[in-house]
Amino acid sequence: MAKEKPKSKKDKLSDKLFFKQKNCWEGIDKKTEKEIEDFAAQYKLFLDMGKTERECTEIICELLNKNGFTNIETLKEKKPAPGMKIYQNIRGKSVIAAVIGKKPAVEGCNILGAHIDSPRLDLKQKPLYEDSDLALFDTHYYGGIKKYQWTAIPLSMHGVFINENGKKTVIKIGEEPGDPVFTVTDLLPHLAREQMEKKASAAVEGEDLDILAGSRPYNDKDEKEKVKLHLLDLLNKKYGITEKDFTSAEIEFVPAFKASDVGFDRSLIGAYGHDDRCCAWPALQALLTIAREKSLPEKSIVCYFSDKEETGSAGNTGARALNFENFFALLCSGSFADMRHCFTRCSMLSADVNAAFDPTYANVFDKKNAPYIGKGIVLEKYTGSGGKYGASDANAEYCAKVQAIMNQNKVQWQSGELGKVDKGGGGTIALYAANLGMDVLDCGVPVLSMHSPFEIISKIDLYITYKGYTAFLRDA
Ligand code: MN
Ligand code: MN
Repeated sequence: MAKEKPKSKKDKLSDKLFFKQKNCWEGIDKKTEKEIEDFAAQYKLFLDMGKTERECTEIICELLNKNGFTNIETLKEKKPAPGMKIYQNIRGKSVIAAVIGKKPAVEGCNILGAHIDSPRLDLKQKPLYEDSDLALFDTHYYGGIKKYQWTAIPLSMHGVFINENGKKTVIKIGEEPGDPVFTVTDLLPHLAREQMEKKASAAVEGEDLDILAGSRPYNDKDEKEKVKLHLLDLLNKKYGITEKDFTSAEIEFVPAFKASDVGFDRSLIGAYGHDDRCCAWPALQALLTIAREKSLPEKSIVCYFSDKEETGSAGNTGARALNFENFFALLCSGSFADMRHCFTRCSMLSADVNAAFDPTYANVFDKKNAPYIGKGIVLEKYTGSGGKYGASDANAEYCAKVQAIMNQNKVQWQSGELGKVDKGGGGTIALYAANLGMDVLDCGVPVLSMHSPFEIISKIDLYITYKGYTAFLRDA
């Protein structure tokens, strides 16, 4: 007979009363491990192929098409019927997709809202100049970046040129093996005495984030800007563009490196653009998982992949634009009253990342309230800054409802807050959904080195987020 383990009463009570979050890798079985690895592999491909909102939109729409979704532009009758799978491509930069459930939309929908734009360097309208036999591109950074992080790394060029006849030329240079890359130069330490004395925010100025684009002169003695001319000649021959075409173009420079496993145990993924593709991808996969099921979801389920989140969601592809509402007008067969009722009955997760606790920078986190790498999907009741300014602050009732869904589906979740009080702050698209009267909670993957060229997440948090989003779409 085995000796019974002595149980202390104190331990049992704490097990019952304390809120403890284990490391999700503990006790994981081989089958789940394989699922996590497979999910991560697909995600890394998505990251490498989708480095801009336009590229992500293209990939998302392609996958939606493959899975039987119809672009609403091609719908003959714009009337939702149970089982319909539809999507809208908003100007090639954001997407809204839905599976129409058994119940009419007026009874409320379950929504995931992620974003597919990430911080980067955009070209100015007149970017190209020559100085000291070097051709350079002038940029305007996009989103919240630490400027010094964007020097001395390989960058790739992505975007579109549109000519006067509306012809679109898609550019992607620096992603294929053998492609040239670009870079922002940095000052050698030998001469950086003055620079190193500056505050980090001023060490590299926004106006100095200029991209090295070439150094070889055009063979013409009389020309002044020979290197610039040579570069324009190359671009003209390859893409048919001239300098004027930059004024209307959207060209983005992003880190040229690929997503990689990080660490001996390969438990982490390092990549550009986790924020917010590590939520957009699980959201898309959750939608597709439910779309492939034989039985229809009770409520209609909606996934929104928005643009411009990193600059405050303004603009006609951002979450503040009417696109989101218009899509619901369609779901409600054009009834304004139904749409308003629908909004107040919608359950939404603002699928966005959270800052994971970083032991190197422990002093800016509240250890008790920070989310941790490897501890599951983060439920973040409020974001904002200062005295919760700009936070939608989800209701207790709704938070408890989402927690219950996660618990019932055995999805490990953790609570999270963005750093210590008054250390900074930030927001997501949650407040724009809240403005419509929806219940909305921020919910996603914890990230290290957020907004840097090489952000870090855990494979297990990514996978659990997919599981959590699937449960939410089905059960909320
Ligand atoms: Mn984000
Ligand atoms: Mn962000």
